[in-house]
Amino acid sequence: MSRQITGATIVAGVAGHPVHHSLSPLIHNAWLEAAGIDGVYVPFTPPADNFPKFAEGLRGGAVRGINVTLPFKEQALSVCQRATPRAEAAEAANLLIFEADGTITADNTDGLGMLGALSAQAGFDPKSGPVVILGAGGAARGAAAALKQAGAPEVRIVNRTVAKAEFVAGALGDVGRSFPLDKAGEALAGARAVINATSAGLMNGGRLDIPLEATPEDAVVMDMLYRPLVTPFLAEARRLGRRTVDGLAMLVGQAEPSFEAFYGASPPKEVDARALATAALEADPA
Ligand code: NDP
Repeated sequence: MSRQITGATIVAGVAGHPVHHSLSPLIHNAWLEAAGIDGVYVPFTPPADNFPKFAEGLRGGAVRGINVTLPFKEQALSVCQRATPRAEAAEAANLLIFEADGTITADNTDGLGMLGALSAQAGFDPKSGPVVILGAGGAARGAAAALKQAGAPEVRIVNRTVAKAEFVAGALGDVGRSFPLDKAGEALAGARAVINATSAGLMNGGRLDIPLEATPEDAVVMDMLYRPLVTPFLAEARRLGRRTVDGLAMLVGQAEPSFEAFYGASPPKEVDARALATAALEADPA
């Protein structure tokens, strides 16, 4: 039975450019339907060069909140009046809540999702040793801050644009180190986990050429990208016999606290969000 949209329907969504690849609408709407909540979750495509104007337009609470995906996570933090400590630490937000009084609150649930995925799929303990993050964008910052907070002794940031790697590593204090992409092999030596937080490969974009064989044999390799579920990066890690963690586990992990923030209830346990998303990926792998 299709849901009725009324004046009381709680509207939330995801904003990205592009956004059509996002599986968040599928997951949130399945949770809403199963929970019997009068809510809807829609994709938004703000103009690539004017996210602040888009966010200003939502101020006041007609829309309860939005998840924010690339390339807007840093800008999302700049439009808020209040930010949670984890969004401030990440200097990026993936969740904005529009309060009725006009206040915009920013949060970052990507780090929670990533830690949950590493733990659930590989039993990974962040305290166990150095972790390498490939990329220095919004997702990388959230991951770096969460790993530091969870006790990682060293977080190595590897990025194509070195200045951005230095900036993200610098924000981590003593725990952070930065490397250019062509020195990735040095960063991988002795790493307990390697996390791809670049957008290389997204929408058939550039391929990431990383010497994963430089990692210890028992290292964990994670890709935040989840389309396809087994990316070329994860396929290479598996070929080398490394344990792998896919981006879907993180997607579901960051969506759970977002759903609670939008609709004031936990996602219903009977919905297998991972199975739903996996089926959608298999139906449309591009
Ligand atoms: P940003 O646009 O903020 O950052 C992109 C990063 O990728 C930059 O560091 C950029 O390097 C790097 N990059 C892009 N293309 C290449 C390339 N060809 N070679 C090497 N590096 C490249 O994106 P986000 O941080 O928001 O997202 C990053 C990825 O993580 C996306 O694929 C996104 O879909 C995924 N993600 C997945 C989540 C999940 O739940 N599974 C949650 C959040 C993100 P440079 O600085 O040099 O431009």
